[in-house]
Amino acid sequence: MIPEYPSIRTLQRLLADKVISPRDLREHCRQLCMRYDARLHTTLELFEAFDTNSGGSAGLLAHIPGMIKDNICVKGRTMSCASRVLERYTAVYNATVIEKLYRAGAIVLGRANMDEFAMGSSTEHSAFGSTRNPWNVDYVPGGSSGGSIAAVAAGFVPWALGSETGGSVRQPAAWCGIVGLKPTYGLVSRYGLTAYASSLDQIGVAARSVYDAALVLSVIAGREEPVRDSTALLLPRDYLLTNALDGIMPKGIRIGIIDNAFNVPGVSPEVVRLLEDAIAMLRSLGAHIVPVRLPSMDLGAATYFVISRAEASSNLARFDGVRYGRRSTHADTLFNMYANSRSEGFGEEVQRRILIGTYVLSHGHADAYYRSALNAQMLMKEETRRIFGEVDLLFAPVSPTEAFPLGTFAENSLQLDLQDYFTCFANLVGIPAIAIPCGFTTRSMPIGFQLMGPSMSEQLLCQVGYAYETATPWHTMHPQLLHV
Ligand code: GLN
Repeated sequence: MIPEYPSIRTLQRLLADKVISPRDLREHCRQLCMRYDARLHTTLELFEAFDTNSGGSAGLLAHIPGMIKDNICVKGRTMSCASRVLERYTAVYNATVIEKLYRAGAIVLGRANMDEFAMGSSTEHSAFGSTRNPWNVDYVPGGSSGGSIAAVAAGFVPWALGSETGGSVRQPAAWCGIVGLKPTYGLVSRYGLTAYASSLDQIGVAARSVYDAALVLSVIAGREEPVRDSTALLLPRDYLLTNALDGIMPKGIRIGIIDNAFNVPGVSPEVVRLLEDAIAMLRSLGAHIVPVRLPSMDLGAATYFVISRAEASSNLARFDGVRYGRRSTHADTLFNMYANSRSEGFGEEVQRRILIGTYVLSHGHADAYYRSALNAQMLMKEETRRIFGEVDLLFAPVSPTEAFPLGTFAENSLQLDLQDYFTCFANLVGIPAIAIPCGFTTRSMPIGFQLMGPSMSEQLLCQVGYAYETATPWHTMHPQLLHV
């Protein structure tokens, strides 16, 4: 018998005691997905046959199945980025994270739905249909890694990989009541991750507990040989984040509460109340709570808006119907072939971003937009360095509100863009951050809080997160989906 919503540790124990076989476990997860995913649409493809290199019995994730966001290359499989442009693209190599997962014995069960090219905050911008929130199927799960996060929250798999450019793992994790971890820029190789905004992109982890997230990050982090992502950092070979997780708040830890993040128009009072409860809990566990101001955080959304679009316009230039991507069959000239391939293939949101990105980089406008954004980013980095001299970690909301019903912002893309307000700061500065569940709103929708730390502080983030998790019930609460 496999319990519902099992932790990775529970599954490992059941496997070790031979209560379940690796095959039982894999089939169990596939069955759950086949049975319940029609209502959620977390998955674009559930695999039937598995790579012989995966599922080994030695390793941190031996036989443990998970899902992969569909912008990460798995050799021999389609990788669509939830776009018509790449609908028929087959990955010709494995991303470094996939190689590492296979070496650790993990099973990749399928490809998770997402916003097209990871652009969005609700997973409503997938070319293949929206994903829904397992807590209420009329609500969005958040995005852009909504498929990965909802599959974990729904209990289909214990872990999934997403990607983070401005908050795409943390925001849906908070809205679906699970843990989302965005690593330090460079901690995880981006080789095999389809680029959106390369200077911000990082692969992130979704899991139902801090412990499980730490375990998966330990597997995917660190060096690759040969080096294929020149921004990837070298780490000791025995990088194991779970070693330090004892459930005790580190002595003398100072957590800075970002005051200006609580006093912004648009932050729901209900979210503030739940975050205050989380702060009170952290204090009662022994953390020193220090109010701080981080004025440059207020520049985050605007800065992110410009830099992400600029890089996207350049990264997505390769999808022209020649080397990559679907090619239009209605074109009389070469120019029209390019133009038609791109307008037929890309969805509206992606096209809007390419156009904005091209504009902010264009001659005569680059100084006003792109260069100002880089200056603002520098200011944010400077302020971050200073503040981490005063406190060890920073506390902020993940999102200003709970999840919203599907279609709410169909006519208002600016409101969707503002979802990144509190999360994109960590991407712009390159620091790690974690979203941890901390309760429910009156509509029974989950909420999370966010901790950010200095570069390479994943260990500390997980220690504090695990101490909080050990003292609170939120990570043990799950949607009713499997009971109806
Ligand atoms: N919501 C952000 C965007 O749409 C985040 C995207 C991401 O992190 N991939 O750009």
